[in-house]
Order: sequence, then structure tokens, then C-alpha cells
Amino acid sequence: MPRKKQQDPYVCPTCGTRVEKPEKTWQLISPIPDAQGRITITVMGSFSCPNGHKWKAVVSKIRAGGSGVEVEGKKGVKKIASEEGENERDRGEVIELDLSDLDKEDFEDEED
Ligand SMILES: [Zn+2]
Repeated sequence: MPRKKQQDPYVCPTCGTRVEKPEKTWQLISPIPDAQGRITITVMGSFSCPNGHKWKAVVSKIRAGGSGVEVEGKKGVKKIASEEGENERDRGEVIELDLSDLDKEDFEDEED
């Protein structure tokens, strides 16, 4: 297990109710590639529970570039061969860059 609290993004931090899925998701892209030249895409989700609480959490992280794509979720890291093209398609969606959110989320990449 990684250091510090392992938080399930689907669980309400206020009342502990687990929800099925985010109300919406969006992607945050790190502007600086890592040592392997890969770009990290953080998938954020906006959640709300039946009791009216709302929160945001990191759903997964995707590392793209180099030899393929790596998806890091709570089940671990999954590698996707680049020829699948799934992520190419995703790039057609609207992407919001929000670096303040990125900072808030204990971003653990070597950015410097
Ligand atoms: Zn709640």
C-alpha cells in the first residue's frame, strides 16, 4: 500500500456513503513530462452522495507517452498498448487545465 491514507474516491468523506460513479469527470494534464518523457493525466471526478454532500477526488492517473499508456487507478497500474487508440479518442474531449486542483491533490510526480 502507498504511504498515508488510502482513500476510496467513491466514498463520501463526510458520511461514508459509497456512490456508484462520479457525476462527472475531467482530466488534468501535467504540463511537464516525467523522466521517461511521459505526460501524466490525472482524471478527477466530481461526486455527490444521496445525503447531499459533494466532493472531488482523483479517480485515476494516466501516463501517456513513450511505449504506451499506463493507467493508475485504485486497482493498480494497468498498461495499455498505444495501438489500442482509446486514449487518442479521449483527446477529442474538452480538457480543462486547472493547476490549482493539481496542487491540492498531493501530486507525487517528479516535476522538478
Ligand atoms: Zn455524504
